[in-house]
Amino acid sequence: MNRNAQIQRLAEETFDLCIIGAGASGAGCALDAASRGLKVALIDQADFGSATSSKSTKLIHGGVRYLEQAFKKWDFAQLKQVKHGLLERRILLQNAPHLAQPLGIITPVFHWWEGLYYRIGLKLYDWFAHNRTDQPWPSSKWLSKKEALALAPELTPGIHSAILYYDGQLNDSRYTLALVQTALQFPGTVAANYLALEDFEKDTSGKITGAMLRNLAPDPGGNTHIIVKASVFLNCTGPYSDKVRQLANPALPQRMSPSKGVHLTLPAHILNSRHALLIPKTADGRMVFAIPFEGKTILGTTDEPCGVSPNEPMLQSRDILFLLDTLRPYLQKPLDQKAVQAGFGGIRPLLAAAPDRQDKQTKSLLRDHEVETDPNSGLISLLGGKWTTYRVMAQDAVDMVGKMLPVGKVLSKSGTEHLVLIGARQYDTGLAGQLQTRSGLPAETCRHLAHHYGDQASKLLALVEADVRLIQRIHPDFPFICAEIVYAARYEMAVKLRDFIARRIRMEILDWEAARASVPVVAHWMGIELGWTPEYREQQQLEYEAILEQFIRQSKL
Ligand SMILES: Cc1cc2nc3c(=O)[nH]c(=O)nc-3n(C[C@H](O)[C@H](O)[C@H](O)COP(=O)(O)OP(=O)(O)OC[C@H]3O[C@@H](n4cnc5c(N)ncnc54)[C@H](O)[C@@H]3O)c2cc1C
Repeated sequence: MNRNAQIQRLAEETFDLCIIGAGASGAGCALDAASRGLKVALIDQADFGSATSSKSTKLIHGGVRYLEQAFKKWDFAQLKQVKHGLLERRILLQNAPHLAQPLGIITPVFHWWEGLYYRIGLKLYDWFAHNRTDQPWPSSKWLSKKEALALAPELTPGIHSAILYYDGQLNDSRYTLALVQTALQFPGTVAANYLALEDFEKDTSGKITGAMLRNLAPDPGGNTHIIVKASVFLNCTGPYSDKVRQLANPALPQRMSPSKGVHLTLPAHILNSRHALLIPKTADGRMVFAIPFEGKTILGTTDEPCGVSPNEPMLQSRDILFLLDTLRPYLQKPLDQKAVQAGFGGIRPLLAAAPDRQDKQTKSLLRDHEVETDPNSGLISLLGGKWTTYRVMAQDAVDMVGKMLPVGKVLSKSGTEHLVLIGARQYDTGLAGQLQTRSGLPAETCRHLAHHYGDQASKLLALVEADVRLIQRIHPDFPFICAEIVYAARYEMAVKLRDFIARRIRMEILDWEAARASVPVVAHWMGIELGWTPEYREQQQLEYEAILEQFIRQSKL
């Protein structure tokens, strides 16, 4: 993933397909198209997966809420979503088991009849899942109060009982990266981050022939322009989709109805459980999850209609109040705002409600996807969807691309259902133990390396073997080691400090203060690997420290 080499190829070659946006949708489309033999260009104005795709709740789910809505409103569209989601849940886990695993979710109830209600609902959820999988998936269970407290000892003893069910959980930013890296293993694929689409080049009939990109990389090679030539252009810009659609054809009406969702991060001892907690009904009638993630508890999310501004959505103190107030009744110990260690905000790329549903709030909008083709410009847009269904979304979008390719170019059927991602080919649950035997590194570090990198972790050990200083931890509270900084800059196209701290190791969403304390050491190793001057390194440090400072300030406003 040498960025300069990728950019040179983007500027010089002609592609079958140019994909704009490298979140779950765009990266998924790149892999689908590449594996079907197309020559693919994938670009993003920022880092891979840096927008919504790294800010999700990290659940791979059919959607218990959609199931409830399906039956309450007799809405078959919602039922279809549940079925899709449950089928995809199995595939996501199967293709990258190092990055996605089953997660037990506990739903506490305060009355027996609530228990019965959720028991029936989750039994149906099991039924839909089991009906469509050839692999065993743990079934839901009605737990007594004693059983629930044994699994989650910090729950209030005021509960009547709880329902335990299982969904999937993924490391969203690393999953996006794995999609990009797997796509890049096909020789016709080229991908680069920090390339922003500024305009389209068109022929005399108005059809797009080129994407005019500005190189936003922070290094001295940045701030230049290139044009990517391709037969078909696919808009995968998630919440920003309308902007790109209207760049291609200003007459197109808005389709997106974006909504902001934030999470906050708490220490793991607040829940003290390897299971997640589902709060089935908040004050505003939604669900909130408290999930274990990378040694912390992530609590979220909110849901608030918003516009799409270039400013990143952030956790604010009113969000903290709402989320903590929602969680408190389920815990036995008091929970203070001071416990909050970090947070993150994302924008859901929701499709606008159909006219008969315009009065509804965003939580009831369909989270399903649509592939739109603009006959004037030829632009295809993949709109809406969710992380869980990224693969079918990609399949549908690339099927449409196939119809737009020049005559004579025939596309094979999508094979991504059985396409194992990078890191997963030699991965098994014994990998952490093998890494420990080879390196003598602490068990916690080896578990972390196995989960983040899968079978690629051996490359990290090779780095450590070549330079023993890389064995050092980046921060004493986390298992991350300095070899990962070099690895991310060399093999994962990390070009900014934030690319590494937020998305390669996730420290930014786990602990802002730890992230701040890690800046000098990350800058040191990244600077060496990427050839930064001392002045440039200092500028990068100041820039990232200012971002962290803003997060901390906003959360206190
Ligand atoms: C709070 C929250 C919680 C969620 N939880 C879940 C969950 O638990 N499970 C689930 O299945 N789904 C969940 N989702 C939904 C899921 O995260 C999104 O559907 C998915 O990540 C969208 O991916 P995307 O690639 O379409 O968009 P994005 O990830 O936003 O990617 C779009 C990309 O386009 C790029 N881009 C934009 N404009 C340009 C331009 N001009 N030039 C170049 N690049 C450009 C952006 O930089 C960005 O990287 C959640 C969403 C939110 C907000």
